[in-house]
Amino acid sequence: MSLEHLWAGWRREYIVQATERERTGEPAHDEDGCVFCRLARSGEPSEDNLVVWRGELTFVVMNAYPYATGHVLVMPLRHEASLGGLTEGESAELWSATRQAVATIEAAFDPDGLNMGANLGRAAGAGLPAHVHLHVLPRWSGDTNFMTSVAETRVMPESLQLSWKRLTDAWPG
Ligand SMILES: [Zn+2]
Repeated sequence: MSLEHLWAGWRREYIVQATERERTGEPAHDEDGCVFCRLARSGEPSEDNLVVWRGELTFVVMNAYPYATGHVLVMPLRHEASLGGLTEGESAELWSATRQAVATIEAAFDPDGLNMGANLGRAAGAGLPAHVHLHVLPRWSGDTNFMTSVAETRVMPESLQLSWKRLTDAWPG
């Protein structure tokens, strides 16, 4: 069973769109065609948009393609492909939000470790290279290898909604 079958509603749309882009290689240069920009415009954090936290310049959202329970993406609200293209303010908030995401995942899930990082460009494995984003995900001893897990269908022990609730409850403020 693929993730496409596991998640319903807008997440299905999100996955279909991302898969479509993956297949066609069509770059999402415009904000209108960018799934992440749509999420950026989706309003306050809620169980529907699965946004965990929304700042002035950046936001944190559950990954609809989770490699592990509690996997989030941190990104600028603005459509920007490269780290170098971010403003100083966006860079600073991206980093502070990433640090907070790490601390919140630790508080909410008590993992044995975490992975954080970015796939910059399609060749590096970015599904949506046009809108830069950082991955933060908890890891447990004995779970699958990070790189292996990217390519495989994952069986998630808990729903995205439940993970969202745990993270929003644990996020300060
Ligand atoms: Zn975008």
